[in-house]
Amino acid sequence: PPLDPDALQTLLERLSDDASRCFNEGKVADYIPALAQVDPDQFGIAVCHVDGRVQYAGSAHTRFSIQSISKVHALVLAMQRLESDEIWSRVGREPSGQAFNSIMQLEVENGIPRNPFINAGALLITDLLVSRIVSIQNTLREQLRRLSGSDDIGFDEKVARSEMDHKARNASLAYLMQAYGNVHSDVDDLLDTYFHSCSVSMNCVELARSFAFLANRGVNPLDGKEVVSPLETRQLNALLLTCGLYDAAGDFAWRVGLPGKSGVGGGIIAILPGQMSICVWSPRLDGYGNSIAGRHALEGLVAGMGLSPLG
Ligand code: GLN
Repeated sequence: PPLDPDALQTLLERLSDDASRCFNEGKVADYIPALAQVDPDQFGIAVCHVDGRVQYAGSAHTRFSIQSISKVHALVLAMQRLESDEIWSRVGREPSGQAFNSIMQLEVENGIPRNPFINAGALLITDLLVSRIVSIQNTLREQLRRLSGSDDIGFDEKVARSEMDHKARNASLAYLMQAYGNVHSDVDDLLDTYFHSCSVSMNCVELARSFAFLANRGVNPLDGKEVVSPLETRQLNALLLTCGLYDAAGDFAWRVGLPGKSGVGGGIIAILPGQMSICVWSPRLDGYGNSIAGRHALEGLVAGMGLSPLG
């Protein structure tokens, strides 16, 4: 049975108090200069229960750059609009075992990215959306506002510009896929859309809410509307478990045992199917680009609740 709300609140507060123990390790992402300006020693945690109730501790209302967490929402937009074959003939569903921004597998595998949660895969999903949606930016923003119940969620133009100014690696990924005939849109337009998706600012409470549908068989508890089908929910959670933390996905599954997705802004979301969605945030990253205090807190949360879908 789930923890009672008071016991869970005590646990969240303990995890938040303990987070500062991780503040001597890791560093903020600085390959995107705008992200390097964030105060590294911050921590927030929020959970959203499947009935829509939220509990939180620490700086759970401080907004940060969601970065790669947006790759999940982009895939959801694609699953809502395209046939399964249209998506999975152009992007794989296997863990990459390589860094999130790696290019090497693209050449070996004819421009087909390993999965939608690495940069190459998210660029490909963005390319797929270009043919279906007039303004991907507006659609994504509306989706995030609806799912989280916050109508002022938007882009951080400074972060988006900073990424465009340092676009070389992502541009290389897009051009290589274009050379293989797997990307069709103008590369600069594609990058602009992708960087804006990464630049969205949200806080832990908003992010936990925006993922509650993945704990709730595809239904957003805030408005009772189906976001994706129960089958698609299972598929998304499977992909998050195997690919959500790039080449640290195996270690994350070992330690935390939940489907999850990280971003270089220091956020990690995780799903406890049937119970809750979770968001943790702390900007100091390990060598894989994943939040150190965030992962630590998720380990503590799962251990403290004694609940895991993996036994
Ligand atoms: N915008 C970042 C990039 O393209 C996203 C990476 C991440 O969060 N892992 O490099």
